[in-house]
Amino acid sequence: MKLSHRITHLTPSGSDGWEVFYKARRMKAAGHDITELTIGEHDIRTAKPILDAMHAAALTGHTGYAMVPGTDDLRAAVADRIAARTGVPTTPANILITPGGQSALFAAHHAVLDEGDTALFIDPYYATYPGTIRGVGGVPRAVPAHPEAGFQPQAADIDQHANDAKSLLINSPNNPTGAVYSRATLEGIAASCQAHDLALISDEVYDTQVWDGTHMSPRALPDMADRTLVVGSMSKSHAMTGSRVGWVCGPEDAISHMINLATHTTYGVPGYIQDAALFALSQGTALETEVAAPFKRRRQITETLLATQTLVKASPTQGAMYAMLDIRGTGLSGQDFANALLDQHHIATMPGESFGAAGAGHIRVAMTIDDDRYRTALQTLLTFAATQTA
Ligand code: PLP
Repeated sequence: MKLSHRITHLTPSGSDGWEVFYKARRMKAAGHDITELTIGEHDIRTAKPILDAMHAAALTGHTGYAMVPGTDDLRAAVADRIAARTGVPTTPANILITPGGQSALFAAHHAVLDEGDTALFIDPYYATYPGTIRGVGGVPRAVPAHPEAGFQPQAADIDQHANDAKSLLINSPNNPTGAVYSRATLEGIAASCQAHDLALISDEVYDTQVWDGTHMSPRALPDMADRTLVVGSMSKSHAMTGSRVGWVCGPEDAISHMINLATHTTYGVPGYIQDAALFALSQGTALETEVAAPFKRRRQITETLLATQTLVKASPTQGAMYAMLDIRGTGLSGQDFANALLDQHHIATMPGESFGAAGAGHIRVAMTIDDDRYRTALQTLLTFAATQTA
């Protein structure tokens, strides 16, 4: 079959940065006991009451075609949640329910890019970003965020890359760096968007996982609501990764066009999943805090262990389920460090380079295994690092 350039070039050929991950999976399949600090997913499953709500909704017949924009009740609940968290007036007409944040990222870029348009994203970045931009015919352009600035994007760097660009994608709390963007950072981003007339796509799927400071949505900054599309999800906040339910929030006219896009792509999200999401949101912040608690504990374990030595430094672990460790003191690249750690100690981490050039000399540790195993693995990692310089 003759395939389109668009689909065959979604991701570049050659290294995809996931070699260490695949090697770990092969070693695991061969019977090795591998400690995986690679996966951005909870070690708990969706809470039973949410599954009960899903089951009940399915039994009452919510198994037919659901409303494409999302059910009225779920759109209202998401709008209320966003209004409560940000203070920005938000109505159901500002919300499209999507099959997860990933689908929302696709819809958002589809909404603001024409064929061949340049779209900015911050490096280090979540793996799918450049492919999502290419998938809608856009041209991805990375804007580096620097470890020296705690991976907070600087307006000067955005300005330098903004020529001819149409959009900017940001993510706070950030995967992979764990940075939570400060108000000053977001104000700089907003100023750059206004100066270069960029649409801002704000990926806030980790908004309930903030350990230091507070999460702020750039949609709440003056004059930003009209140019901002916020991507949200139940995946991380409610341990519902497999349910595939998220949203995009933005100006009414943008949402109405994205509803039309959904009609021609996803055709909505199953009704029983939406009912389960509605139930989960109705539990309020208590459930969100409970789901985030293990990462908060492990973040504390990370801080405590790192404080016992000076060789490996953490970029500020401010949010999300990851610690980005600066291992430049060992003289190794992230790739070499991760490979050697896997070979010698059967601990799998992600090389920082997997997330873009700006992640060089780092490794990303996902805090997604139980506390005791996590503590032991991190201690082994630090002891291993020390032996590299001996
Ligand atoms: N955005 C970021 C930064 C992520 O890390 C992820 C998943 O890991 C997603 C979006 C997509 O999440 P989902 O499609 O499950 O909502």
